[in-house]
Amino acid sequence: MDLTCQFKETARRLGFDRVGVAPVSRFELAPAGRRPTDVDPGAKSVVVFITRMLNTPIEFLPERRITYNIHWEEHRHRRMTATYEMAHFIEDHGFRAHCGVTATSLPRFHHRADFMHIFPETATPESPNMDDPGSLRRLEAAGTLSTRRAAVEAGLGEVGINNLLITPDFGPRICINSIITDAELEPDARFVGELCDREGCLVCLEACPAGAMGEDGSFDRSKCASYQEKTLGGLRCGLCLKACAWRKDYTVKRREL
Ligand code: SF4
Ligand code: SF4
Repeated sequence: MDLTCQFKETARRLGFDRVGVAPVSRFELAPAGRRPTDVDPGAKSVVVFITRMLNTPIEFLPERRITYNIHWEEHRHRRMTATYEMAHFIEDHGFRAHCGVTATSLPRFHHRADFMHIFPETATPESPNMDDPGSLRRLEAAGTLSTRRAAVEAGLGEVGINNLLITPDFGPRICINSIITDAELEPDARFVGELCDREGCLVCLEACPAGAMGEDGSFDRSKCASYQEKTLGGLRCGLCLKACAWRKDYTVKRREL
């Protein structure tokens, strides 16, 4: 079995539901500071892992918002542990492995969907303070690789009008992990199809209490952030995850592809 197959099999054993590989060449047009080679000049591949979230805590939003937030935190820790196990697997095969932080298609404040690999040499001590928009801007300026972009380039889905990664099997109800490596792995094809019904659906726009999304695909992160910070006291909102039409019948949706 070649390294890519071994790698994917190990990832599945560790509980990841989907794994995709993107060669670094697919990031050549990304802004400076947002390419995998900015993290590691010798990088060859970005491996992206998708894990589905539990449906129940999402379905019980907004009444059981605490349950949803606890679920997300538990999920994040467990996925990070699994990602580090994958990183050990890569290193045991003689390659480098840079782990990204766990993201959902809807990270806290819906603010930093694009944060995955933070440059340690430029991130400031206050960078992880997700409550401080100023700090977030510094973190953004410090440079990261786009989580969603990596997932798209690895063939795992598309970004919907809700600004979330939508996957064919689990909709946006997922979290994403990633590793940048100098191992040359077999790339996956980009996803072909249309998951988000931009003309006929728009359920997410109606569901957003902050009015953060626009029909033209625009997304006002500050409205989302402000709602979660000021109205929800720092808890995650998650209503666009719940609302997305992809929750309704994945089986039918899959058949339509
Ligand atoms: S529904 Fe609106 S406020 Fe809530 S997380 Fe989604 S974009 Fe943010
Ligand atoms: S709710 Fe509808 S319009 Fe919004 S992201 Fe999901 S499929 Fe697209």
